Amino acid sequence: MSRPRLDGKVAIVTGGASGIGEAAARLFAASGATVVIADIQDALGEAVAASVAESRPGSCTYARCDVTDEAQVEATVAAAVAAHGRLDVMLSNAGVLLPTGPVTDMDLAGLDRVMAVNFRGAAACVKHAARAMVAAGVRGAIVCTGSVACVQGGFGPASYTASKHALLGLVRAAAGELGRHGVRVNLVSPGGVATPLSCAVVGVGAEEMEAMTEAHNVLRGKVLRASDVAEAALFLASDQAGFISGHNLVVDGATTAVNPVVL
Ligand code: NAD
Repeated sequence: MSRPRLDGKVAIVTGGASGIGEAAARLFAASGATVVIADIQDALGEAVAASVAESRPGSCTYARCDVTDEAQVEATVAAAVAAHGRLDVMLSNAGVLLPTGPVTDMDLAGLDRVMAVNFRGAAACVKHAARAMVAAGVRGAIVCTGSVACVQGGFGPASYTASKHALLGLVRAAAGELGRHGVRVNLVSPGGVATPLSCAVVGVGAEEMEAMTEAHNVLRGKVLRASDVAEAALFLASDQAGFISGHNLVVDGATTAVNPVVL
């Protein structure tokens, strides 16, 4: 089977300035797509876009877009369509993990913030990407970055788990509604990856984070990296996944598939 390609396709990657989104933006562009990185870290986003475009001029640009502001999401989608003629792929990946505490002492303002980015922000991305695709008759692909926290508790605080469970519901509902338009909607759900998000929460550097995740891996001899998650997102975004919709592609080396008690 040949590698998935995105030749001639236009993709928006939210949260593309860092971590998994950056890896996806790089891989999507290397796979033929024209990529718009949408993020709130302007300097990082501009730098990643410039570095990607060095290999293929025009293949990547940066747009400031806070996904918690629906108007900014709508404007980013409209600008991408105006600049490149269409939108084929939305990777809704921007996310936060905040230390909102145990349930008995939950910081509810923090919960609102996590939901605003991880769930409501993703909902705005799905909404406006789908609108653009349906209006133009594009059989597009929407991929949301979920998490093992989509399907299990215990991977971060309850606010994070709740936001990712809600995202799973959104994706399933959207896949149902958008199927008649030929638009596919899926999730890619990673286990622990050493990125600024995970390192900040645990309070360690990337190397220590990788050692910690390796120690908890069911699948031995490999550490999950942002590039592995990007490969799964690329597959879901590509025509090779042409009949896959409403699916949660868990990339966790079986961590959520087995009962740790019996290991
Ligand atoms: P990261 O911090 O490296 O990247 C997240 C990006 O999202 C950053 O560039 C940040 O600026 C951007 N972002 C945050 N709030 C935003 C907003 N309001 N609008 C636009 N952009 C915003 O973290 P990451 O680990 O690469 O996270 C990417 C996704 O992967 C998140 O959805 C996260 O929940 C998910 N995830 C991460 C892990 C992990 O272990 N790192 C595991 C499972 C799922």
